[in-house]
Amino acid sequence: MSKIVLLVADGMADRPLKELNGCTPLDIAETPNMDDAAREGSCGIMWTIGPGIPPGSDVANLSLLGYDALRIYRGRGPFEALGAGLDVKPGDVAFRCNFSTVDERGTVLDRRAGRISTEDARKLAQEIEKIRLDEFPDVEVIFKHTTEHRAVLLLRGPELSSAVSDTDPKAIGVLVKPCKALKPEAEKTASVVNAFCQKAREILESHPVNEERKSKGLLPANAIIVRGAGQLPSAPSIREKFGLDGCCVAANALIRGVCRFAGLDLIDVPGATGTVKTDVMAKAKACVENLRKYDFVFLHVKGTDNASHDGDREAKIDMIERIDAAVGYIMNYADDVCLAITADHATPLKVREHTGDPVPVAMWGDLVPQDDVKRYSERECAKGMLGSLFGKDVMRLLLNFSGRAKKVGA
Ligand code: ZN
Ligand code: ZN
Repeated sequence: MSKIVLLVADGMADRPLKELNGCTPLDIAETPNMDDAAREGSCGIMWTIGPGIPPGSDVANLSLLGYDALRIYRGRGPFEALGAGLDVKPGDVAFRCNFSTVDERGTVLDRRAGRISTEDARKLAQEIEKIRLDEFPDVEVIFKHTTEHRAVLLLRGPELSSAVSDTDPKAIGVLVKPCKALKPEAEKTASVVNAFCQKAREILESHPVNEERKSKGLLPANAIIVRGAGQLPSAPSIREKFGLDGCCVAANALIRGVCRFAGLDLIDVPGATGTVKTDVMAKAKACVENLRKYDFVFLHVKGTDNASHDGDREAKIDMIERIDAAVGYIMNYADDVCLAITADHATPLKVREHTGDPVPVAMWGDLVPQDDVKRYSERECAKGMLGSLFGKDVMRLLLNFSGRAKKVGA
């Protein structure tokens, strides 16, 4: 039986660009290793969720891990919270939060508080973490700062619901929204969120860090806005579903949260940042090393998506080439491995957002049959023998090509 590596380059797939003579970044980038994998193995095209459905990275990666993502998904918040290292229990309601800047009327001036430093935000968070709501003695409020302006909020207690609206208006120059119940059973949760945000406002307004920021001409982080309310679905782990002991090499908090949900151990890799500056080779080395201990490594690289959202063509191509070098390392140094190379969705440079385009998939390993595809790209992989796949098919195929699939029927 082979070990399994699923390499996901976030948002790597793209559309043909006029400036590149009708080529995509994957066509243009020098990718000898991914091309070898495509030529020696089997290729296909994949709809992570379904044709034309642009997925968020949480839903997309859940699907790649074999989950029926549309059915189980109940909001992004709990995955962010898991990724931030919090324990999320059944019934907890979790949110993503921003430290932001508002004026005295509550109009949003900056959703990220002038891109507040992690250091300043951490000091502010120490006070927010102490918030207890006297009006709701049965609700535990857990707040955790992550990076820069980002944080997560977790509410724990009886009769909570994730059917509440965002307070984040996702725009500047407009008022922070009150949190509203979207179903009658969510009234209590909405009130808790509003009480929390009010209290946070009072604490932050007079906090010395904000006084200092104002004196330096920086925007104060005087409000917390929340979005993405969710509750953790209950679903079997990767071990229960596929009999695999797995780990995850990823730096992005959301992806780490999805992987924790799937029961994968998180591997910390020095130099892995979840940005275009990440050390992809260090991640490949960690992957190969952990294949000694685990059956399955989920290896995720975020930088391709960041470059795509920024519309930065050069950075995207550079990132793809560094991912290719990492693929080469895995192909050379992993013993008996079945490797899949794919993207969780397309993030075309021209669109700067996720789209519902198909993405390329290549599978490579001793048991993987060879098809006629010669290069790894959107256009070429579409000609491969795996045909058109859904995201949730990928793990099944990897089990098959690693000699681990169980027969159905007699
Ligand atoms: Zn993504
Ligand atoms: Zn994205």
